[in-house]
Amino acid sequence: MNASADSTTNPETQADSRLQWQIAMGFAGGLAAGLLAYTFAGGSDWVEAVVTYVTGPVGQVFLRLLFMLVIPLLFSALVVGIAEMGEARSLGRIGLRTLAYTVVVSSIAVAISLALVNLLRPGDGVERATADAMLAEGRDGAAGIVAASAESESGMAQLLAIVPTNVVSAMSENDILAVMFFALFFGIGLLLVQNSSTHVLKQGFEGVFAVSMRLIGLVIRLAPIAVFCFMFNLAAQFGWDLLVKLAAYVGVVMLALAIQMFGVFPLLLKFLAGKSPRDFFVQTREASILAFSTASSNATLPTALRVADTELKLPPQIARFVLTIGATANQNGTAMFEGVTVLFLAQFFGVDLGLADQLFVMLICILAGIGTAGVPGGSLPVIALILGSVGVDPAAIGLILGVDRFLDMCRTALNVVGDLVAAQVISTVGSKTSN
Ligand code: ASP
Repeated sequence: MNASADSTTNPETQADSRLQWQIAMGFAGGLAAGLLAYTFAGGSDWVEAVVTYVTGPVGQVFLRLLFMLVIPLLFSALVVGIAEMGEARSLGRIGLRTLAYTVVVSSIAVAISLALVNLLRPGDGVERATADAMLAEGRDGAAGIVAASAESESGMAQLLAIVPTNVVSAMSENDILAVMFFALFFGIGLLLVQNSSTHVLKQGFEGVFAVSMRLIGLVIRLAPIAVFCFMFNLAAQFGWDLLVKLAAYVGVVMLALAIQMFGVFPLLLKFLAGKSPRDFFVQTREASILAFSTASSNATLPTALRVADTELKLPPQIARFVLTIGATANQNGTAMFEGVTVLFLAQFFGVDLGLADQLFVMLICILAGIGTAGVPGGSLPVIALILGSVGVDPAAIGLILGVDRFLDMCRTALNVVGDLVAAQVISTVGSKTSN
């Protein structure tokens, strides 16, 4: 969970950028091949056969490998995240403030993104019959994964279901919110009992986290092929419409991120921290540029710490605490991105999400902002899982994989600037109240 464990060091950065190129090529190749198939042989038997027997299953294998790792990854990330918060016991009040700040500001972020998707509806207008057919196909393929989550309950029952009666069945049913609840609860338990056994247990969870991250890294290497297959399937069935929808989706994500960055953050800085937003953005630019280029909050942590110290001149103890926790737990950009993506894909595939479902998505995104690893593409497995639990075919994630890298760079910049805003606000509020 700490910066040194999974940050993108040099050889990794090189491999990472090579992989990004390969994914981009897979995206462009699959899109071009799919559009050709759509234009010249749309609906023909051989295109159907390729989708059913080749590109469809290959994409499914990739997704299944990702799914397999989500529960161990999410669970260990949350447990260790919470346990780490408490390690700085002496910083108890700051810990509480950080937690409250994270929940409130993440809620604002997610609310903005959900409002925008509902207002602008970037995924609407896709030909229903094709989308339904595709959704049905995908659902068969991913039956084992989404079976239990498709029929969602409503109202009070949904709220109650957040507290699982049996964590093993919650896991086997991919009931993500219930699993997250248990993980948070378990993390608190780990905080309360601090002896040599729980210390070992916590290290064990750190190990599970490290192993899951490594395995996800291996699976992600298959992404170029999987992205080719996803894009081929989608373009062969949706044609040119797909490009227009994708552009609208990217536009909405960017707009949501921009509102948080240039609307909400300046207000927080000005009114809570009494700091000129302009000065703040200038002083933190080194960290935001690095976050943008590495797409990893964890990799940017050392720079963010230095910026907080030398540029913002924040008290080191507070900055260190808030930024270290924030690199994993306070991810406004990620929470926003996950909210927009899930609703966009639901619109695209004609899954109607009512108010209760949307509130559910909102809650998961706020928690997911805490549980998502601060590494490139950290959101992807989480999104796949949320999709499954609101009844959208998880294979739908293929639609956005090709544009994910750019959006990852943008949302990571927001994540890191958001952490620095948090450090600035909490330092100022803290010094005011202790005076
Ligand atoms: N790349 C993001 C980060 O490191 C996480 C994600 O949203 O994928 O902050």
